[in-house]
Amino acid sequence: MTLAQPIPLVRPSLEADDALLRSFGEILDSGMVTNGRLVRAFEEDVAEYLGVAHVVAVANCTTGLMMVLRCLDLTGAVVLPSFTFMATGHAVLWNGLTPRFADSDTGTCTIDPASVHALTDQAAAVLAVHTFGAPCDVAALQEITDRQGIPLVIDAAHGFGSRYPDGTMVGTKGVAEVFSLSPTKPLSTGEGGLIATADEGLARELRTAREYGNPGDYDSRFAGLNGRMTEFAAALGSANLRKFPLRMTRRRALVQRYRDNLADIPGIEPQQIPAGTVSSYKDFVVRVDDAYGLNRDQLATRLHEEHISSRTYFDPPLHRQYAYRHLTPEAPLPATELLSRRMITLPLYPGMDDAMVDRICDVIHGGAST
Ligand SMILES: *Cc1c(COP(=O)(O)O)cnc(C)c1O
Repeated sequence: MTLAQPIPLVRPSLEADDALLRSFGEILDSGMVTNGRLVRAFEEDVAEYLGVAHVVAVANCTTGLMMVLRCLDLTGAVVLPSFTFMATGHAVLWNGLTPRFADSDTGTCTIDPASVHALTDQAAAVLAVHTFGAPCDVAALQEITDRQGIPLVIDAAHGFGSRYPDGTMVGTKGVAEVFSLSPTKPLSTGEGGLIATADEGLARELRTAREYGNPGDYDSRFAGLNGRMTEFAAALGSANLRKFPLRMTRRRALVQRYRDNLADIPGIEPQQIPAGTVSSYKDFVVRVDDAYGLNRDQLATRLHEEHISSRTYFDPPLHRQYAYRHLTPEAPLPATELLSRRMITLPLYPGMDDAMVDRICDVIHGGAST
């Protein structure tokens, strides 16, 4: 009996080439190892790629979100989805702000504007998320926040390479969008984050915030952080940005293969990508409904038995996690409850081959009710 090759959930694209190794050598020789020339070059490359005026490179997305909320000088409640990664909520808590949980859409998995609308009274800000890479309904959210006169901040951790229906890149909306460059994200620098904003004043504040709140005269204006990116991370980021379009094309082809393979299985519903948008496909996720032969956890077990990794993001959702349980949601979150029980993340990374997708889909076919 031959044992099937294990398939990991993700394998970050971090291979070294000569140019990258040369630039690592140059960084070491220069003695300038953090927040220097290569960080600025990376920021400029990303700003051009996204079509946004300012990009501030930071240590990671969590730090970036914490600093954006701090620089906006907010007090009170922030509306955010419960169906998200814990770091979205943590950035709110670290600022002494109170999370107010909005529901999400069962098809797109993104924050539901109708639910947001019901929660914005007296809120200080809305913090939306491009869940698994699918752009949130930014037009509807912007209308709500404009009417309330509060900022829309976007956790774009999953969204590097995604596009809005108007053709602009994710990174160009809200007061700021914050990307993650950690190893499981579409573009990686090992660890890292990027804040994109059209607001020059905010960008300046953020550059101070990532330097402990010190604008350069050793007289800190507020309690900033060490939120800097290293030169090594920036060199890796610039190298990966050059290869990014090709990797996105590969990611999309793999997702199309999944979709074609899974199309005729009752009760297996891939995440819907909102009309006119492009997803980065940070993840390929499917909803396991009653019409399928197994429930979500049984499918995860079946995949595991075949040496195929999967994850059950985001289960439990934020409002059911220990750190958040004291905050009772103001309204029921039926879609969040459903998504957290039914969504499963399947393996996806540019280095995967078609046969791996086929093997995974065969296992899923095997669990279908007949
Ligand atoms: C990964 C992730 C973060 C945190 O990113 P880091 O760079 O690891 O700090 C924040 N929000 C969401 C939705 C994420 O998936």
